Amino acid sequence: MGRDINLKCVICGKTYRPDQVDYVCPDHGTEGILDVQYDYDAIRKQISRASLKQNPDTTIWRYKPLLPVNSDSPVPPLAVGWTPLYDAVNLAQRLELKKIWVKDEGRQPTASFKDRASALAIVKARERGTEMITTASTGNAAAALSGLCAAMNQKNTIFVPESAPQAKIAQLLAFGSTVMLVRGSYDEAFDLCMQAAAEYGWYNRNTGYNPYMTEGKKTAAFEICEQLDWQVPDRIFVSVGDGCIIGGIHKGLKDLKAMGWIDEIPALVGVQAEGSSFLYQAWKHDEDVLTKAPVQPRTLADSISAGLPRDRLKAMAAVRETGGEFIAVSDTEILTAMIDLARGVGVFSEPAGAAAYAGLVRAVSEGRCPRDETVVVINTGNGLKDIPAAMTAVEQSGTRPFQVEPRLESVRQIVSRWE
Ligand SMILES: *Cc1c(COP(=O)(O)O)cnc(C)c1O
Ligand SMILES: [Zn+2]
Repeated sequence: MGRDINLKCVICGKTYRPDQVDYVCPDHGTEGILDVQYDYDAIRKQISRASLKQNPDTTIWRYKPLLPVNSDSPVPPLAVGWTPLYDAVNLAQRLELKKIWVKDEGRQPTASFKDRASALAIVKARERGTEMITTASTGNAAAALSGLCAAMNQKNTIFVPESAPQAKIAQLLAFGSTVMLVRGSYDEAFDLCMQAAAEYGWYNRNTGYNPYMTEGKKTAAFEICEQLDWQVPDRIFVSVGDGCIIGGIHKGLKDLKAMGWIDEIPALVGVQAEGSSFLYQAWKHDEDVLTKAPVQPRTLADSISAGLPRDRLKAMAAVRETGGEFIAVSDTEILTAMIDLARGVGVFSEPAGAAAYAGLVRAVSEGRCPRDETVVVINTGNGLKDIPAAMTAVEQSGTRPFQVEPRLESVRQIVSRWE
């Protein structure tokens, strides 16, 4: 069955039927990102909080009536979604906050948040009957698309900067994607991918261009609220590169409010790396994100290294409309946060994932996160994605292994020095 949805330009507000446009508003080009509009009255007849309770499906497809896919479209068999939400008591104690929940997206099939979006991309591409799917990526969106395509035997071509972490490139090659290693930045890989998609008619998954990526990412907000039994947190911290995740979280919360499942929308806090802080700067100085010049990104958090955030309109709206804020943190703070999450929760994160927690630490220390609040921190990617960064974090923390001979005496010498 076809879905009754419309696509609304975030700039001019003009609405289109899905078959009228390819990806963006024809009047506004690549800036004219579209927002998917639903008929909530119709959806309420198909899904409720009570029906969800009975639904044994623990993937994002448990929310299918709230997703822009046909009800009979085949979905990838990998288990995307329903990642754990941990009660981080140690961290809450340390920061003297009422409650901190950590949503661990490192547990997704390809080990990052991006599986949520790529799952939508492949279903939409199949609905359209496309032979080839393509995306540009700092690495995780690529790995996600690559893995999901492998599971569905779908051809795909990926553009990543050659500087992407080895683990991410290894994933692409192992999953059998055609890989274009771009001698340039993510922003250049993005532009190149856009040109190739137009030239060859490939299905274009690019973030901040394909309107359905937000819809996949919003499922994290559904899960957070459902996992908390519809008691919404006060604040959600999420790292921001292109801004699609934070825009998606916002969209998910707005859906839930429209459905009447939640009463309030939490404040959304977007955390950027100081060296790649286009949105933080634009927010702080009240600049127009459509005319602001790109920044030259420099951060070890490769997944949030973006000179011109492609989903900047939705990201800015997410922060402004929820009374949240943008925060910029240094790479040193990010490395510290990696260790804090690892030792305080047992969650091993890549730098971009830990950035969200670094933002919370900063907000608390600067007195902008009241002690009686319940906060959610999203770890967007697994620490195994970037071992050199993990080793740098460990070194910065001053932790070293002991070198021992394979004799008990060698261990005794070390243990005898302990108190
Ligand atoms: C992509 C990504 C982000 C940022 O998401 P955007 O939608 O680009 O803002 C953060 N962390 C990780 C691990 C990612 O892969
Ligand atoms: Zn428009």
